[in-house]
Amino acid sequence: MTIPTRNLTLKNTAAALAVLLLLAAVPAAESALNIVSLDQEWAMREDLHGQVASQKQVTQAAYLTEIGQRIVAQTELGNRPWNFFVVRDSSVNAFNLPGGLIYVNSGLIAEAESLDQLTGVLAHEIAHGSKRHGTQLMTRAYGYNLLAGLVLGRDAGQGKQIAAQLLGTGILTDYSRDAEREADRAGVGYVYRAGYDPRGMAEFFSKLGSLRSRQPSKVEQFFSSHPLTSERIANVEAEISRLPQKKLTGDTNNYQRFRSRYR
Ligand SMILES: [Zn+2]
Repeated sequence: MTIPTRNLTLKNTAAALAVLLLLAAVPAAESALNIVSLDQEWAMREDLHGQVASQKQVTQAAYLTEIGQRIVAQTELGNRPWNFFVVRDSSVNAFNLPGGLIYVNSGLIAEAESLDQLTGVLAHEIAHGSKRHGTQLMTRAYGYNLLAGLVLGRDAGQGKQIAAQLLGTGILTDYSRDAEREADRAGVGYVYRAGYDPRGMAEFFSKLGSLRSRQPSKVEQFFSSHPLTSERIANVEAEISRLPQKKLTGDTNNYQRFRSRYR
């Protein structure tokens, strides 16, 4: 598949300078600060995906894309291209990378017993993307240097180098508790509006908790990037209880057929 590429350069050097001056004035604790524009973020996707694809066995699955797009349509970035990939890996994990890239391990699909459990995790990862947590982390980690890299990154090698560095250091998955809370809250809203039962998200989180005590190695990666607490599950349940009742999808035969490919 091809992902459209754009230049990583900033159109306006004056704007870049203004951001640098702003950065100098903002304390490092301001974690929600983001100096990466949406266009710059989406221009990175090809290099980021290239890095993942060079290390993992990734494929696109029409079914995953279909439900993913239905959730993405509920977000504030639904007009941008998003891509969904199955990673052949038996550990239970899913992750988001900047530029609308969502990866779900086959091991997670095998463990998600119903469609609403999968959509819950998917919506959580999509929310990390739509709330731009990855580029916020990049801003915090690189600040001035990142921006300088983007401004100077005129040769094709530079983008790939930045992508390799970002993924190698794990910066992009080191979410704060606030980011987790925001992704949970937004994710519940997305699945509900897309017509999936949000209770699946709380169910799957509980399931991860019990897997952690039975097979810790299987969920290690997930927990390292998504600190999960009983407080989070309680928050998700409280969020759900505030939603008006409506007809929602919990599971389908199509989902079970899709899932059977990964068991
Ligand atoms: Zn998360």
